[in-house]
Amino acid sequence: MIYTLAIIKPDAMKKGYKEDIRSEILDNGFKIAEEKTIHLSKEQAERFYAVHKDKPFFIELVEFMTSFESHIMKLEKENAVIEWRNLMGATDPSKADQGTIRSKFGTDISMNATHGSDSNENATIEINHFF
Ligand code: ATP
Ligand code: MG
Repeated sequence: MIYTLAIIKPDAMKKGYKEDIRSEILDNGFKIAEEKTIHLSKEQAERFYAVHKDKPFFIELVEFMTSFESHIMKLEKENAVIEWRNLMGATDPSKADQGTIRSKFGTDISMNATHGSDSNENATIEINHFF
């Protein structure tokens, strides 16, 4: 699978990191096959993160994802899902390896700058959700 879905989340957009993060993506050998900036509705955010609906952080997550615009990208590279997750780093920016996007641009475990699909199957579902 050569595609994955990436989102620059509201915290990074609000702080003006969109172009810095796009540059990192391109510098690391990804192509941006499609992209758009949108402000997620509550329904979209709830549907997108439906797997987490029973987690204690679900309401906080939906509020965060609907708080400002997001930049949605379909990324293209060999082994895109794994490559993009490696470039993003761990979910918690304070635990993410130095040099990763979440380490550089993330705020905290909730507002962690970017999203990446976690499997080829979910990448296909998430890409179809937005493009
Ligand atoms: P994403 O799916 O956004 O790429 P991820 O796969 O690294 O992130 P998940 O476990 O899928 O992590 O969690 C989805 C999102 O929910 C996280 O990116 C973060 O924004 C939020 N989140 C996860 N764990 C917590 C937590 N313990 N407290 C608050 N928010 C959390
Ligand atoms: Mg996830």
